[in-house]
Amino acid sequence: MNAFKVAILALGGTIAMTKSEDGGVVPTLTGEMLAAAVPGLGELAQIDARTFRQLPSPHLKYGDLEDLAGEIIRLDQAGCRGVVVTQGTDTIEETAFVLDLLTDLEMPVVVTGAMRNPTVAGADGPANLLASVQVAISSEARGCGCLVVMNDEIHAARFVRKMHTSRLDAFGSPASGRLGWVSEGRVFVGSRLERPPTIPLSGLSENHRVALITVALGDDGTLIRALPPGQFQGLVVEATGGGHVPVEVADALEVVARRMPVILASRTGAGETLSHTYGFPGGEIDLQRRGLIRAGWLDGLKAKTLLTLLLRHGVTSVSDISAAFEPWGGGSRR
Ligand code: ASP
Repeated sequence: MNAFKVAILALGGTIAMTKSEDGGVVPTLTGEMLAAAVPGLGELAQIDARTFRQLPSPHLKYGDLEDLAGEIIRLDQAGCRGVVVTQGTDTIEETAFVLDLLTDLEMPVVVTGAMRNPTVAGADGPANLLASVQVAISSEARGCGCLVVMNDEIHAARFVRKMHTSRLDAFGSPASGRLGWVSEGRVFVGSRLERPPTIPLSGLSENHRVALITVALGDDGTLIRALPPGQFQGLVVEATGGGHVPVEVADALEVVARRMPVILASRTGAGETLSHTYGFPGGEIDLQRRGLIRAGWLDGLKAKTLLTLLLRHGVTSVSDISAAFEPWGGGSRR
């Protein structure tokens, strides 16, 4: 009997989808069925596969992921060698980062999915699940935090992005490159990252909404001014380039920043928000003077994830939120 125990927790997604009578595919396959479809999985580890949720991934909520993080921590305490989460790929770049921020474990936590559902030729779910279990039991992946394994590539949760709607190589880490890869069942980790500061799972509260707005050519701040009072507790703005917006947008952001944290991210998808290069109105120096907090190298989605978890954890002051963005290269200008 294999000594390693690996838990597979299935959340739904394309990897678990089959045809519905109404047309289109919907999540129906259980965790047990996903594991049973992978030849050789039982030779790697004792697999405990089960269904945790059965949803398309845009339907997942922060509460689901907090429950999942709690279950992962319990599995670690119970002596699991690794945990693999299967889910829809649409939101993996956010869910994996949530798990990364909520768990601080030596045990590998791997998130995977599929770009092609099990009813079509060349479905990639079984290969992704096999590679994920190989990563989950490997010593190379220990202490690396939450990883995303797709298409035989290993990505860090903090960097990974879904960059294509349908191709098998949809996932990439444009800011940093992949962390490693899997070949002939062997796991290679080319670079290791420091663990990010984690957010304790206890004391999280519901009902914190963070708005995410991308700025585009010709915007005049109308959408920002139209944010309904009291409905949002934070705002992430994906600005152009290194963190730049039209002057009218800067005026609108300054007003919002007086009543809630406003995080300045870049819509480019890679690279830091700048801190002290551009001096024009609506540039990053001006926006920081107006109270905005730089996201550093977190993209808009990751910045929204971090801010949401901070607010759910009761961190609301601008100085504390600014300090929480510092390890990611962001924060307020000093
Ligand atoms: N297209 C998605 C997927 O890859 C659907 C989802 O995210 O649930 O699984």
